Amino acid sequence: MRVYLDNAATTPLDKEVFDAMAPFMLEHFGNPSSIHSHGREVRAAIERARKTVAGLLNTSPAEIFFTSGGTEADNSAIICTCRSLGIKHAITTKLEHHAVLHTMELLEKQEGVQLSYLRHDERGDLDLEHLEELLARQPQTLVSIMHANNEIGNLNDIEAIGEICKKHNAIFHSDTVQTMGHYKHDLQQLKANFIVGSAHKFHGPKGVGFLFCDAETKIQPLIQGGAQERNMRGGTENVYGIIGLAKALEIACRDMGEHQRHIQGLKDRMIYKLREQMDDVSFNGMSEFGDKSLYTVLNVSLPASDINEMLLFSLDIAKISASGGSACSSGANTGSHVLRALDCDPSRGSVRFSFSKYNTPEEIDYVAETVAKMYKKQLA
Ligand code: PLP
Repeated sequence: MRVYLDNAATTPLDKEVFDAMAPFMLEHFGNPSSIHSHGREVRAAIERARKTVAGLLNTSPAEIFFTSGGTEADNSAIICTCRSLGIKHAITTKLEHHAVLHTMELLEKQEGVQLSYLRHDERGDLDLEHLEELLARQPQTLVSIMHANNEIGNLNDIEAIGEICKKHNAIFHSDTVQTMGHYKHDLQQLKANFIVGSAHKFHGPKGVGFLFCDAETKIQPLIQGGAQERNMRGGTENVYGIIGLAKALEIACRDMGEHQRHIQGLKDRMIYKLREQMDDVSFNGMSEFGDKSLYTVLNVSLPASDINEMLLFSLDIAKISASGGSACSSGANTGSHVLRALDCDPSRGSVRFSFSKYNTPEEIDYVAETVAKMYKKQLA
């Protein structure tokens, strides 16, 4: 059995999505900026995709801008807000993805933006009173707080955070990469200036995403060039990517309830099976709590052992693909900044299992059994 449990890193492309994309690779190849019919038919398809995405998020197509993925969307929101609006203070958390953290650090170093980090407890639960305090002291602030953490799965209350930001006139950006296509987003309700999406996290293609920028927030583009994306992003559009993104989001929203039930069942089964077979197993962050974490992510804390260093390698040999933290920095071997920020015991092993609609209970049983056997052998 070969098992893929690294769906927070990327998900397999849905065949229905591929079928929607294929004609835009072969037949409809025109440049959407061209004024002839080959270009116009492709332009029309992009605008249909934009309308689809906007409709699914209950907002207007004029507020959706396609990008090369979540990283570019996060960079655009953060860098362009600080530069275009002259913002000199930003609040974020130590638990953000590097697409946010490294961008913030760059602004601090090169553009004199003062950074404040929100307090959190040892499970990563954010202190929203601290947010109120920081905002009361310093108006004209950019707040960037993710909806759900890609490593430990913690879900943050972005509705409450949005209300606090609105009360203090702060700009609010939320990295929603891990919840897009997995949770409902209603942009008429949510008080956010920016949210983002990345197609490959919900069975769409890699290298395409989008930025929602509310109509009131006027920023300049990050990428200079042609007039594409209504002057908000130069460069010929990733046409088949955009078509795939819209199709993938449509399917994800259509089947959301059913997928949530199926995947939550797999996650619960994994927790149960690991606890049944191992004495010393726990879960990092809030990933064991159903209502406080992504149903797609489980971050497992394993006993201190010599095998921890080779944990992902040993799983790979057993044909199990999983991750030791954020997949985006896998291979960099720098450890997890999120687990460090939570003060997790570095002698314990940790592995992130992340699930999708394509996983089965049999796969979960195989993985739990394999992990338990690896530690039993070692600790015997
Ligand atoms: N933000 C979060 C929370 C993520 O998990 C990721 C990818 O893992 C990104 C941003 C980056 O998205 P992309 O791979 O589309 O650049």
